[in-house]
Amino acid sequence: MFQPPFFPVSLNSLTSLLSLADSSRRFKQSIQPFSFTIALYLALNQAWNYKLMHSFISSLLLDVLRLSIWLGLLIIIFVPLERFSPQNKQKVFRQEFLIDVSYYFLNSLLPKLLLVLPLSIVAGVVHLLGPSGLYAGIASLSVGTRFFFAIVVGELGSYWGHRWMHEFPVLWQFHAIHHSAKEMDWLVNTRAHPIDIFFIRLCGLVPIYLLGLAQPTGQTIDVVPLLYVVFGTIWSFVIHANLSWRFGWMEKLISTPAFHHWHHTNDGPEYYDKNYAAIFPWVDQLFGTFYLPRNRWPGKYGIDQSIASDLTGQLLNPFIYPAKSSVSHPPASECRNDSKP
Ligand SMILES: [Zn+2]
Ligand SMILES: [Zn+2]
Repeated sequence: MFQPPFFPVSLNSLTSLLSLADSSRRFKQSIQPFSFTIALYLALNQAWNYKLMHSFISSLLLDVLRLSIWLGLLIIIFVPLERFSPQNKQKVFRQEFLIDVSYYFLNSLLPKLLLVLPLSIVAGVVHLLGPSGLYAGIASLSVGTRFFFAIVVGELGSYWGHRWMHEFPVLWQFHAIHHSAKEMDWLVNTRAHPIDIFFIRLCGLVPIYLLGLAQPTGQTIDVVPLLYVVFGTIWSFVIHANLSWRFGWMEKLISTPAFHHWHHTNDGPEYYDKNYAAIFPWVDQLFGTFYLPRNRWPGKYGIDQSIASDLTGQLLNPFIYPAKSSVSHPPASECRNDSKP
């Protein structure tokens, strides 16, 4: 079994401190209590650090294992479906497939860590300042009812988070990575800068917490925001998939591959900035950004803006904006056209 490294390191510290003290008897007498205290502090500190590090690495390895199993399941589900009913003929191992697999792991681990602090603050503020009668009433609703309202409220929040990603050039630099995919498939869902995922998810979750639809206790988070994130994530794989399925009138009620593929089109400025909703297309109808022709699909996907071809470059690029990048799709404010093309 792997042994913790803190013990030998602490012995070295203790030995060096004691040998230093040996140089003078008086000094030795005066320094010994301090040396022992310091050595004890170092040992405890490193033991604590080791425990933290050990539990961190253990949970990280478990997360990677869990995510690998999920990735295997996603491949088993989507690869055959996309082979049987493809909208576009393309390879499974398309361009930048491995980079998108890296995004899958990165975005499954990092955004949730980033969300802990802001959501804890929102939950704490709501708990302190919120009208207790209202929250008590909402808390008494069944999980199913709270989940239903959470999806609707979260969808409204994430719609605007997504739209702001398109409308503000600084935010677009993060979101451009998601739109840079030139071939659409289920895995494109994971292709996003972690800040992009963090921001849109935060915009969806904050109203859920503010309205009391999430009821976290001091120790555990509530199941409702968790269900919201899990359901939204699974559905997002579906709407990115390279599937030619059409669903008639239902396409106005729930998002489909055709609906979201039009969000990724690069057919021209008149088609940009449509279909921001992740689950409910009627939210786009409500705000005038819905576009879904009955039998047509986009001719091409992607953006004209150049994006780094490696993962590190893609992750760093938004932070050095605008020195090394330029906005070419959108800015939405310059090419907005809410009427149907
Ligand atoms: Zn977008
Ligand atoms: Zn997308």
